[in-house]
Amino acid sequence: MSNYTLKERLLKTLEGEEVDRVPVLAVTQTGTKDLMNLTHYYWPEAHWNANALAQLAISAHKEIGFEAVRIPYCLTVLLEAMGCEIEIGDVTRQTSVRGHPYNSRKPIPIGEFSKEILKKGRIPTMIQAIKIIKETTRDKVPIIAGAEGPVTIASGLVEVTTLMRWFIREKEGLSQYLKYGTDAMIAYANALFDAGADVFAVLDPVASPELINPKDFNEIVMPFYHEISEKLKGHTILHICGEISRILPYIKESEFLGLSIEEKTDIKEAKDVLGDKIKIIGNISSSSTLLNGTYDEVYQECITAIKKGTDVLAPGCGLAPMTPIKNCIAMINARNDYYK
Ligand SMILES: [Zn+2]
Repeated sequence: MSNYTLKERLLKTLEGEEVDRVPVLAVTQTGTKDLMNLTHYYWPEAHWNANALAQLAISAHKEIGFEAVRIPYCLTVLLEAMGCEIEIGDVTRQTSVRGHPYNSRKPIPIGEFSKEILKKGRIPTMIQAIKIIKETTRDKVPIIAGAEGPVTIASGLVEVTTLMRWFIREKEGLSQYLKYGTDAMIAYANALFDAGADVFAVLDPVASPELINPKDFNEIVMPFYHEISEKLKGHTILHICGEISRILPYIKESEFLGLSIEEKTDIKEAKDVLGDKIKIIGNISSSSTLLNGTYDEVYQECITAIKKGTDVLAPGCGLAPMTPIKNCIAMINARNDYYK
């Protein structure tokens, strides 16, 4: 048996130390209907109530066996605090951004980020939930907090097609928005580290090469990622959705400790580019195998991912709410059997 706590094993993995086995966990959302039925903490309440938020997240550790507790269940906490109108969703629909307060052909000056935002919306709820999780898990299970990254923040503030236009025609105005989002994200993440989070995952789906060309990613977005990885107080992970092999050479220099990838990006190819610089997290298909596959299919995909060299076995993206709990448990069993 290992002498590591789950927290030590994950942190050492991200720091690049040899450990006895790959951790198995999620750095993306873990709220599923099966877990809601087991805990009786349901969306949408679990997005707004600190205890429900904490308990549903803890159940992914207790009931599935994921070796971390991960919150929240959406990419709207910061955007809500910044004034975006939020669609609250329901038991199987995540919260989403409904209103984009800065949507305009020409960028409206957004000004400087103010720390007042940290008192707004669900940010105090997140801080309280982290304290509840810390107390419940007695600091042995790593707490992973996640939030929307700067490009996704900008797309929430101005709307995604407007943002795509700004990437071509309004680079200066765009940079002000990315700066604003970066400053907000750093302050928010560090407040969550202060509250007890162990790892912070920056989730930036809108930065995917499926939406932004790799040259713009390198020239416009990367400087903000450098600033984030430099200023965050704790262990950092980046998650970008889709097939991201074209931007891996840039991400390699980002100084994030971990990179969470979907199944569209091959683990072995990613490792060939990243070498030892960034640990790979992933990439069991959350939209296909975990949601619709059989137990055996998930199990086999996990064994393959470990053989290809994943450093942390994890779903490729957020769990779909209808993901069957047995498919998640297949991940734990595959990892355990691999090391028998
Ligand atoms: Zn994703």
